[in-house]
Amino acid sequence: MHTSKSQQLFSRAQQSIPGGVNSPVRAFKSVGGTPLFIKKAKGAYLYDADDNKYIDYIASWGPMILGHAHEEVVKAIQEQALGSTSYGAPTELEIEMAELIKSMAPNIDLIRMVSSGTEACMSAIRLARGYTGKNKIIKFEGCYHGHADSFLVKAGSGVATLNIQSVPGVTLGVANDTLTCAYNDLKALEKLTEEHKNQVAAIIVEPVAGNMGCILPQPGFLQELRSICNDKNILLIFDEVMTGFRLAPGGAQEKIKVNADLVTYGKVIGGGMPVGAFGGKKKIMEHIAPLGSVYQAGTLSGNPIAMIAGYTTLKILKNNRHIYHELEEKTIYLRDNLHRVFLETKIPFVINQFGSMISVHFSNHAVNDFASAASANNELFKKYFHAMLKRGVYLPPSAFESWFLNNALTREDLDKTIQATSESLKEII
Ligand SMILES: *Cc1c(COP(=O)(O)O)cnc(C)c1O
Repeated sequence: MHTSKSQQLFSRAQQSIPGGVNSPVRAFKSVGGTPLFIKKAKGAYLYDADDNKYIDYIASWGPMILGHAHEEVVKAIQEQALGSTSYGAPTELEIEMAELIKSMAPNIDLIRMVSSGTEACMSAIRLARGYTGKNKIIKFEGCYHGHADSFLVKAGSGVATLNIQSVPGVTLGVANDTLTCAYNDLKALEKLTEEHKNQVAAIIVEPVAGNMGCILPQPGFLQELRSICNDKNILLIFDEVMTGFRLAPGGAQEKIKVNADLVTYGKVIGGGMPVGAFGGKKKIMEHIAPLGSVYQAGTLSGNPIAMIAGYTTLKILKNNRHIYHELEEKTIYLRDNLHRVFLETKIPFVINQFGSMISVHFSNHAVNDFASAASANNELFKKYFHAMLKRGVYLPPSAFESWFLNNALTREDLDKTIQATSESLKEII
């Protein structure tokens, strides 16, 4: 496989972009090698600058759930663009988007659109603090809620991938207001809420974690979080930036049947455009400006191109619930066959899967929190990643990321992926 154009582009990029990339995980730093520069994508396939074709398991980190360049979505964007790309004034499309989201997701009376998942989570936390009058928040180790200061404490995703222990630039004051405990560890959580009684505004959680690989909530974990929050007067925030509209039309709230007070969205909600949102119960959301004094704003919030891409994507998902069954079937098929192929090699492995999220850890123990994810053999993951890439399968370039299936993937693509895994494992051990 030739990647000489990507290599040239990466050298050139590093002259004017920090590390040659606009988001750290893209740089392949933890897996080594040169990142591929992408020229175009269609359906389940990515094409790089050297015209190599890859089966895509990143799906832009989730948004491209219908596959790339979906005809209806592209057409909607084109038509909308003819009427200008931004106004900075309200549009009917934003009402339709909000109404559509409310018809799909539980517990959303009011919803505010923003331009990224980071913005959504950071605004939800501000609102939780403003509403409760309390300062501290609890997050779980290895969960990622975007790059706002409050969340860069024991964070997953690129922070874990690059093994950054504490982020310079985040002040001690801010860091001290973020309390952390291990995912799935209810005892530690109880202790934390006791130690900081009446100081905790919110617990924020990825209901299915995707930023330390895919990690499932243990049965009862989210239910227990709900009851702790009820008992202690703490808001429960579900960060559904990954899980929203992916696990079900109503995301993890619907799929796992636990209600959150506030929910944040991103990724799928924008259909590949920069969109995020946070929403929840009216009595909380009405504290946001201009109704209340918790200030939050955005020049490009509710941008018409972003809205039409998201709206069209969500509408397709809402009207075609079978997509969720198909996605899950494909993911289970992949899981079961990867399982079979891995077993043949006798390499210790763990495959975690939930809905259309899946990941592989080279581990001989269960992976259900950050510590167990971090103690897996990530050197072997590195080799696996490159062996797969060479065979035309593009996995996320880090063991601390979930894979995302898109519905353009065919049985043939999955079989190729399984075959590639079989060959790759033989090559790397
Ligand atoms: C990606 C992600 C974010 C941040 O979203 P951006 O759009 O990258 O700012 C927040 N929370 C979760 C769970 C995510 O996966």
